[in-house]
Amino acid sequence: MTALSPLLRQATPVVAERGEGPYLFGADGRRYLDFTAGIGVTSTGHCHPKVVAAAQEQVGKLIHGQYTTVMHEPLRQLVAALGEVLPPKLDSLFFMNSGSEAVEAALRLARMGTGRPNVIVCQGGFHGRTVAAASMTTSGTRFRAGFAPLMAGVHVTPFPTAFRYGWDEETATRFALKEFDYLLQTQTAPNDTAAVIVEPVLGEGGYIPANTAFMQGLRERADRHGFLLVLDEVQTGVGRTGRFWGHDHFGVEPDILITAKGIASGFPISGIAASEALMRKAWPGSQGGTYGANAVACAAAVATLEVVREEKLVHNAEQMGQRLRAGLESVAADHPTIGDVRGLGLMLGSEFVDADGEPDGKTALRVQQAAVGEGLLLLLCGAANNVVRMIPALVVDENVIDEGLRAWRAAVEAGTS
Ligand code: PMP
Repeated sequence: MTALSPLLRQATPVVAERGEGPYLFGADGRRYLDFTAGIGVTSTGHCHPKVVAAAQEQVGKLIHGQYTTVMHEPLRQLVAALGEVLPPKLDSLFFMNSGSEAVEAALRLARMGTGRPNVIVCQGGFHGRTVAAASMTTSGTRFRAGFAPLMAGVHVTPFPTAFRYGWDEETATRFALKEFDYLLQTQTAPNDTAAVIVEPVLGEGGYIPANTAFMQGLRERADRHGFLLVLDEVQTGVGRTGRFWGHDHFGVEPDILITAKGIASGFPISGIAASEALMRKAWPGSQGGTYGANAVACAAAVATLEVVREEKLVHNAEQMGQRLRAGLESVAADHPTIGDVRGLGLMLGSEFVDADGEPDGKTALRVQQAAVGEGLLLLLCGAANNVVRMIPALVVDENVIDEGLRAWRAAVEAGTS
């Protein structure tokens, strides 16, 4: 009898039958508050009526308008809609299906655009599971182990992680930028460096926001040395952090922006955005794929962007994020095993530590599992899997946040007693 491979690891035992807004309904008859949102994907909630209607209408018209063969209307509309939200200089777009593919596309564009081979990544960064993306991923050895040899030409620089060292943010940032300069002197010369790629908030690496000095420091170094700043906004984009893009917090703009996840409410589509001048340095036909810019996914993305605008979801993420954060801090104040609460907007993490302040993945796992019993779905992140993250749909209101916080308090109590 065939079965799903045991290599799949599922974070909860829930069998999902139906989704609606911030909730999933299980085959066990229970309603679960979904603070995973399909790993930050269902930005407009599960099955938002407008996204459903747009997708259904498109399914009846054209499902697969293969984009290296023909142009289609939903793709044209998506390009126009993204023009409303992207920095004006990122006026040239290309699409694929997943975050990993978009990371690879950005890497290829950076190498072709600069004629340089190497790439600098931040330690703790997650960029995906395909070979190049896994080579650039340092959020946990579990994403690399058994996969060697990985791609050459990747150099790793520190990300400011103040909490780990008990530093203040300024010290962590000064350290990270000094190490970056040292890396350019000792491992990859500027002339060999195509790009530095970074997430505005380390995602899988532990929900650690960057800061303005760090991001501006990277921007300034990229400009000075002629390499590109690539921002992986796969998890931080489309309102997740309480601004439309994560980089909006830091006053820097990338040369290449990578988007996926929340852009289409669950339909698989990803993209890269850059200036037309940069895109022209890649030859026509150098990127593509059978399913890229799928017509139904494009229609869902256009509807998603409309819902984000009409329902003011970016603002809502900021407001609800503040409420969620205040609640998480209040739980942490009563439980010293939660050493840090951090994040931006509706991308928040609670870090579990032991009595010595060391990462405590066991307690985080117990709490995450207890939360399922409380009807709250959560995921872990961080190298030691000791950070419990919350990434609810951006449509949550006060009642949903408070319901989540009640379940969270109960789960923390159950998991730590
Ligand atoms: N980059 C970031 C920042 C991500 O969070 C992820 C997925 N968690 C990826 C890339 C990879 O995306 P995908 O799983 O769609 O390949």
